[in-house]
Amino acid sequence: MKIVKTVAEVREQVKAWRKEGLTVGLVPTMGYLHEGHASLIDKSHEQNDRTVVSDFVNPMQFGPAEDLESYPRDIEHDAALVEAHGGDLIFNPDPEEMYHEGFSSFVDMTVLTEELCGLSRPVHFRGVCTVVSKLFNIVTPDRAYFGKKDAQQLAVIRHMADDLNMPLEIIGCPIVREADGLAKSSRNTYLSPDERKAALVLSKAIKLGSDLVKGGETDVKKITDEMKSLISAEPLARIDYVKIVDAATMQQIPVIDRPSLCAIAVFIGKTRLIDNFFTEDV
Ligand code: AMP
Repeated sequence: MKIVKTVAEVREQVKAWRKEGLTVGLVPTMGYLHEGHASLIDKSHEQNDRTVVSDFVNPMQFGPAEDLESYPRDIEHDAALVEAHGGDLIFNPDPEEMYHEGFSSFVDMTVLTEELCGLSRPVHFRGVCTVVSKLFNIVTPDRAYFGKKDAQQLAVIRHMADDLNMPLEIIGCPIVREADGLAKSSRNTYLSPDERKAALVLSKAIKLGSDLVKGGETDVKKITDEMKSLISAEPLARIDYVKIVDAATMQQIPVIDRPSLCAIAVFIGKTRLIDNFFTEDV
């Protein structure tokens, strides 16, 4: 397992693999890896001859008041995890390697980014689409792996790859959770012990919503109102959004009459956490 910091080194390694006729999987991450990331690496290892993990806290996808500076970083820990899960190469560029002086080209998306995190974090998906496009061009993978934990991101990337004829397969992987239900996230490390307990309202609300859907409830207002009252009962929680959208367009719907996504974003203290379920998965 190698760690490289330049685009040229990635290209050289991938070229050598291609000469041998090997397939390549890419797992884009912002590092501080946990079992959620590991599940993506495992899947790539299973489906490809070689796996590249990008480990890059992408400044472009953070808003001015967000946690770019405090975002946790630990490349040694990440290297051990990637190696243990069969990854072959970590691409860990400095921001200047990805965004040289005078950088001025962007990949952006309309409709799918209008709701949910796109509404709360206006510059986020432009940063995500731009960096993921760059990673696809640098690594030229056969397949790329994304978690359903970031469900809107997965939908946006699928749509981008399709719209722009990107020659690779996008694979979505299930949410990995802590034993008590909290979705694993690098941002969970921000939580104090009291906040960690309070953060359980997210997975509890998701369970409540998916149970209602499983029981046949299709009225979006009824489902989201019940979820909102559960979350509001937790004093440390502040709702950003609790919504149900069309899984393809990410636009709000009044009734669940098609494949849909129920997504929530909740501040626990200062930490913004997300969780979701697809109605197809309940
Ligand atoms: P991040 O480093 O948070 O940008 O995440 C990198 C990738 O890992 C994204 O595709 C995420 O959706 C995925 N991921 C993060 N947490 C989880 C989780 N708990 N379960 C599954 N995938 C995850």
